[in-house]
Amino acid sequence: MTPFRSFHPPHRTLMGPGPSDIHPRVLQAMARPTIGHLDPAFIGMMDELKAMLRLAFRTQNALTFPVSGPGTAGMETCIANLIEPGDTAIICRNGVFGGRLEAMTQRVGGNPICVDAAWGDPVDPASVEAALKANPGVKAVVVVHAETSTGARSDVEAIAQIAHAHGALIIVDAVTSLGGTELEVDAWQLDAVYSGSQKCLSAPPGLSPVTFSERAIQAVDDRKTPVVSWFLDIGLIKNYWSDGGKRSYHHTAPVNALYGLHESLVLLHEEGLEASHARHLKNHIALRDGLEAMGISYVVAPEWRLPQLNAVRFPKGVDDAATRSRLLNEFDLEIGGGLGALAGKVWRIGLMGHTSRAKNVHRCLAALRTVLS
Ligand code: PLP
Repeated sequence: MTPFRSFHPPHRTLMGPGPSDIHPRVLQAMARPTIGHLDPAFIGMMDELKAMLRLAFRTQNALTFPVSGPGTAGMETCIANLIEPGDTAIICRNGVFGGRLEAMTQRVGGNPICVDAAWGDPVDPASVEAALKANPGVKAVVVVHAETSTGARSDVEAIAQIAHAHGALIIVDAVTSLGGTELEVDAWQLDAVYSGSQKCLSAPPGLSPVTFSERAIQAVDDRKTPVVSWFLDIGLIKNYWSDGGKRSYHHTAPVNALYGLHESLVLLHEEGLEASHARHLKNHIALRDGLEAMGISYVVAPEWRLPQLNAVRFPKGVDDAATRSRLLNEFDLEIGGGLGALAGKVWRIGLMGHTSRAKNVHRCLAALRTVLS
């Protein structure tokens, strides 16, 4: 007799930095029969998925598809394809993910120049401009739109204008922003953008929607050296994700995970992109009012706060880990602790995707009141 049993996870409410709660329709979609990844029915689903991603990203970019891997895979796709050995990239660093982008740039042989801002502050466009002036010939500016480690939004539209004025591409991390906060890939002229399935899209982790502008594709075509990663080489992947029936095999797509992302995008477009942004904002305001009434303050200034990621300083004398484990064990409620420079100092309360509902705001406030009293 095997000692092993089927795994049944506990039912949690996911109010951390991600993953967020999965919409039941997404889970149902993922349980549908697996079909071959070159089946015409599957190819039709992929084409629809790309069309829905373009609407979500607000772009006409032909090369828009989900990378088979988590947000970090989308990040590496952008860096590995657009930065080649000897290229200089300006990396905006105001939290954990800027640091990861710097490391990836180094690994592909690039020369990262970091523009730092304090954790909790947005990236300062003037500092990016100063770095571009001081370093002629920069290939790309890389910036995190929604820094999940601090809860700060940055003005990627302004930074994109500055990058283009200096002949640089703009690469944007939209892992936590897509579906939750305004993001305009075409209107803001963003060149390469990656996101994640597990935040404001209400789908499980493991897929990373990306979109590349014509300018970005040209930069990849102009490379002098092959992309260091075979798996993430968009010159190869794009044939797999090309429209219509003429796809050629690259890897076996995660079939059922893609059903899930497809359903999550159907849900997003049923609700409407603006309505989804408005829902995220409304629930954030309700949570903020409740937290502030308990004497809990925000890390980020109001103008730059992300509605979907509430980074707050917990009251003095509170045991961070003990409080979060009581929330998990007694209330089945997950909230996040601080990362990096904010570790042990803040909580990160996510209201992303399907989690962003009034009942979760009330549940979280009630549980915190009980645990802190
Ligand atoms: N970028 C940001 C802003 C994130 O919040 C995350 C994950 O939390 C990532 C990148 C990496 O995504 P993943 O953990 O799905 O690889």
